Amino acid sequence: MTDDVNNGECFVCGDSLDYGEMADHLRSCLDDAPPPSSRKTPSRGYLVGAKSDQRPDFWTYFLIPRSEQLVDLDQFLREAWVDCCGHLTAFRIKGQRFESHGGSSGPAHGTPTGSLAPKLFALLDDGEEFSFEYDFNQPTELSLKMIEECPYPDVEEFDDDHKIAWGKALMVAQNDEPEWTCVECGEPAEWVCKQCGIEGDGVMCEECAQDHEHDGEEFLPTANSPRVGMCRFGEAQGGLAEAAG
Ligand SMILES: [Zn+2]
Ligand SMILES: [Zn+2]
Ligand SMILES: [Zn+2]
Ligand SMILES: [Zn+2]
Repeated sequence: MTDDVNNGECFVCGDSLDYGEMADHLRSCLDDAPPPSSRKTPSRGYLVGAKSDQRPDFWTYFLIPRSEQLVDLDQFLREAWVDCCGHLTAFRIKGQRFESHGGSSGPAHGTPTGSLAPKLFALLDDGEEFSFEYDFNQPTELSLKMIEECPYPDVEEFDDDHKIAWGKALMVAQNDEPEWTCVECGEPAEWVCKQCGIEGDGVMCEECAQDHEHDGEEFLPTANSPRVGMCRFGEAQGGLAEAAG
């Protein structure tokens, strides 16, 4: 099953599984894992799964302490996964909507903004399904599920690429990045034309991107995020215009 396009990696043990299998796997894997070696790491937290509605091959599981606020969850999803330029966000939990006032609210554990002050334990029960919307104009929509409270593993044991944390939240599994291939020549691709998009033949290698009808300003780097190719995602890494210049 390792060749399944929707598979991802458990950062704790390295197993390759799909999104559905990973939830069951993590419950036992986290129980069996050695405890954190650093006292800065929380001992337990909610295990939460998140999957893109538009692009379900992008998904992740992470831990976040039950005493954290919605604003901390918001900051983690932004920083670890979907933020391009600090757009407005909203959670929908049990039919209630909780909105941020944008991404300029400072770091996690800063002043809560909008209606994101409630603590997670006040809102989320085991098995609770809820949603998150990033950017109301060009939305990236995520479906989330609170699995149950689990022990934290020792993040020091993770590969450097896998130490994806923000505040006290810690990513413990993620989909494998798609193998991006150029729609023109079939070579590995590193750019997405945001006018064409990833579904609309916008994925290209550098050479083909230079010859594309839309200019270098329209290109964003490929990335392992449901926000890939949208708005200004990944632009901080430099664009095609600079790569060509
Ligand atoms: Zn595992
Ligand atoms: Zn943006
Ligand atoms: Zn090409
Ligand atoms: Zn294009």
